[in-house]
Amino acid sequence: MTITAEAESDTSAAGFEARARAWLEANVERAGAVRRTRGEELVAYERALQAKIFDAGFAALTQPEEYGGQGLGEPERQAWERAAADFAVPRMTYSVSHGMCGPIINLLGTEEQKAKYLPRLWRGDDLWCQLFSEPSAGSDVAGLRTKAEKVDGGWRITGSKVWTTSAQYCERGVIVARTDWDVPKHQGLTMFLIDMKAEGVQVNPLRVATGEKPFNLIFFDNVFVPEEDRLSELGKGWDAAVAMLRFERISIGTGSTRSEGPYAFDNVLAAAKKLGRTDEPGVRAALAELYVLEQGTSLLSLRMRAEAAAGIALNARGSIAKLAGAQANRRTAELVSEILGTALVSWSGFTPEGDGLYPGITAMFAGSASSWTAGGTMEVQKGIIGERVLGLEKDPQVDRGIPFTQIRQGA
Ligand SMILES: Cc1cc2nc3c(=O)[nH]c(=O)nc-3n(C[C@H](O)[C@H](O)[C@H](O)COP(=O)(O)OP(=O)(O)OC[C@H]3O[C@@H](n4cnc5c(N)ncnc54)[C@H](O)[C@@H]3O)c2cc1C
Repeated sequence: MTITAEAESDTSAAGFEARARAWLEANVERAGAVRRTRGEELVAYERALQAKIFDAGFAALTQPEEYGGQGLGEPERQAWERAAADFAVPRMTYSVSHGMCGPIINLLGTEEQKAKYLPRLWRGDDLWCQLFSEPSAGSDVAGLRTKAEKVDGGWRITGSKVWTTSAQYCERGVIVARTDWDVPKHQGLTMFLIDMKAEGVQVNPLRVATGEKPFNLIFFDNVFVPEEDRLSELGKGWDAAVAMLRFERISIGTGSTRSEGPYAFDNVLAAAKKLGRTDEPGVRAALAELYVLEQGTSLLSLRMRAEAAAGIALNARGSIAKLAGAQANRRTAELVSEILGTALVSWSGFTPEGDGLYPGITAMFAGSASSWTAGGTMEVQKGIIGERVLGLEKDPQVDRGIPFTQIRQGA
């Protein structure tokens, strides 16, 4: 596609979309044109491409210009998404960096922190991870036990984190650690920016059912963090964590539209056709339900994004998006198994040709359950919606107001 002189100078979102489409056609492969195994190879490909997109002025569209963004609005962001839907642009690699770490640094960072970290983050030079969950603190993340001790010029961090997505590829992370053990659990936490390549950081990738290693178990042994990398006020790490979890839930819940992924209606329909099953009444009904589900979640996403762009705070309502996305994913997994039957399990792992059925569907099915838990489980989201959106009574909390050292552990 060539671009006309008229579109070149058109400053509307439509003009932006035309320029984005022309650039994508000249520079990026079509989605699905080349299959890559996941992991390192995919990260390397997406890193190189993200830098190219950033340099061309199509990344960090709504971010402030002084920190590497384009300073544009929601119409341009949506225009880019429409244009990019057909191309193999980075999607998973930057979900934590761009969906959670960038926004929290933007919200809480000092001018120095923003200037130092954000341009590299948006360009994808540095990958960031979220270091909240611990072996004994997942849903109850305020009960975490990784400690940060004050030393000359900064802090020393010791403890362990688990489930940390993509940490094996990351240069930096956002970590919450306990800085005061003598106050109630929510009041003794502080958030820091940490160098994942620093001495004392040991990252251990964990293998899951699909053979991939999406998460890590990480040990921090006396790792030095300079004072200038403290992100939250001392003892205000819980508020910072809640703010970041809200970004996470909005990002997960209103993330890329489903029509791009392996569970997209078009992909499942193509697989059903390949198997010759589209004349079966049960399969047709399941396909129709899948279509309705896809449209519903995508409209909810659009609405929430529009609200956020209009400056309407989503606050705890981000949990609605997260819950709706997870529930849709659970139902989609059931529908996909009805539509594809036993063909769904005839899979021999990731290959350059895909998984034989339709690229990604079986792997997606195997990993489906993780979306019910990632970013906070469905039960936890229901609790948040009940208390903070509907105003229902709070769950009883036996450890509220008690100094952390006096809370019974493992009881
Ligand atoms: C795909 C994926 C990616 C992840 N990435 C990251 C990451 O990058 N960084 C990070 O820090 N963490 C990450 N996590 C961890 C995730 O946040 C936790 O797994 C999640 O918060 C649940 O914690 P848990 O696994 O310890 O389960 P638990 O908290 O032990 O929960 C066990 C069960 O108890 C239920 N439960 C617990 N508390 C309540 C309650 N108050 N009310 C009702 N039911 C309750 C839960 O719903 C669940 O069914 C990731 C997880 C997944 C699956």
